[in-house]
Amino acid sequence: MPLNRTKIVTLISEGKEGDEIVVKGWVRTKRGSKNVVFISLNDGSTITNLQIVADPNHFDEDLLKDITTGAALSVSGSLVSSQGSGQGIELNAQSITVLGKADALDYPLQPKKHSFEFLREHAHLRMRTNTFSAVMRIRNVAAFAVHEFFHKKGFVYLHTPIITGSDAEGAGEMFRVTTLDLKQPPLDEHGDINFSEDFFGKATNLTVSGQLEGELGAMALGEIYTFGPTFRAENSNTTRHLSEFWMIEPEMAFYELKEDMDLAEEFLKYLIKEVVSKCEDDITFLTKRELDEEKTKPQNQRHELNLKERLQFVLDNEFVRINYTEAIDILLQSKPNKKGKFTYPVAWGIDMQSEHERYLVEKHFKKPVIITDYPKDIKAFYMKQNEDGKTVAAMDVLFPGIGEIVGGSQREENLEKLTARMEEMGINELDWYLDTRRFGTAPHSGFGLGFERFILFVTGMSNIRDVIPFPRTPNNAEF
Ligand code: ATP
Ligand code: MN
Repeated sequence: MPLNRTKIVTLISEGKEGDEIVVKGWVRTKRGSKNVVFISLNDGSTITNLQIVADPNHFDEDLLKDITTGAALSVSGSLVSSQGSGQGIELNAQSITVLGKADALDYPLQPKKHSFEFLREHAHLRMRTNTFSAVMRIRNVAAFAVHEFFHKKGFVYLHTPIITGSDAEGAGEMFRVTTLDLKQPPLDEHGDINFSEDFFGKATNLTVSGQLEGELGAMALGEIYTFGPTFRAENSNTTRHLSEFWMIEPEMAFYELKEDMDLAEEFLKYLIKEVVSKCEDDITFLTKRELDEEKTKPQNQRHELNLKERLQFVLDNEFVRINYTEAIDILLQSKPNKKGKFTYPVAWGIDMQSEHERYLVEKHFKKPVIITDYPKDIKAFYMKQNEDGKTVAAMDVLFPGIGEIVGGSQREENLEKLTARMEEMGINELDWYLDTRRFGTAPHSGFGLGFERFILFVTGMSNIRDVIPFPRTPNNAEF
């Protein structure tokens, strides 16, 4: 008799009637009568539960009592065709061991619907639910696909530092990293904290982006990408922002903006295609989940296409590409603008708010949109300055329901232009960065994809806190 555990995902695809097997997993539900007990078991390998059928007269009463929602079991027996209406197989239990009990009065996850708020408070257990296990399996497949995509193209996976000594990365507020005694920090003659006595001999922070170091890699290795955690201490309590999130940042020598956009579009489609083909059951489950959730919402807050259809739609359509000036014109001409429905006014030069981005993507084009050539004053110092003196060769990819999912640009490769811009913006560090422009400079481009924003899109979840195992947000670093 084979005593190695078989995963439920394998059983479902390969199991045959009569197979003697052992499964191990956690009880989702138990029901039954005097003559038969049904246990639905999940081991995390698939959204599908295995139905276990046990004859109560064959098992000890105390053992059966310990089989409650959440308990861990090892069950051996033989596979039989399912008697119930659902097809497939079930397991006829010959022996059951309770590996770990889950006291029904204490176990927080009951066999009923829990709100996402409740589950966020129990994030240490929520991966045991259908929704969160599906999200985490999709996240896993997407992460692997990121590496696969770049590996196939010959990009080098570059590990950029998480602790950074430069505070000029320019992408938002940073978290300080220090070993100084916060009660009695060393002070300099002005009474300021003397960071030369800190661990690294200078002030250090958690990185907000690996891009600057990524550029150094690209200017040596040709094409690189990073995929790691980034940290932003912004107090933005939105459904699209985390304080700790994962970002993928490719950086490519000899690419101009057009090629940068082409790569971003190809990359996003590749990731979606992988998720669609490898996570069919989980996507089906999440599509149904979203439909159920939307039943409680007014018609105008429901998606026109369901999750599965939305993913296919992105695969089947080219992204719209327009420049910032054209986008502003569309917004100026739009109904909500004319009727004064936007909260933030529209004018050339504004940093578009999510209401503007969503109008363009969801109402006007109804497709992913890439906006290029933003005003230089709302973009980072390193972006390539356009001939017009007003705009830079930036590109943001906007997705329905998400808004900005990718932000990228061609980089300014001209030393004089770059240093002039840095002076204007009061950035006077980063001499090491400028060496790329001093020695063998060349056109190059890159972008950043927020991994959780992508996972939001492919799972149909609506809060970014629900697509990362343990979210970090203002006032929350539990678990
Ligand atoms: P936003 O305008 O949405 O705040 P940003 O312009 O600050 O984003 P970038 O600095 O361009 O973002 O970062 C690149 C990508 O990282 C974004 O396109 C987005 O997908 C993702 N991202 C940025 N900030 C966050 C965050 N706080 N949480 C999760 N993802 C983020
Ligand atoms: Mn951006």
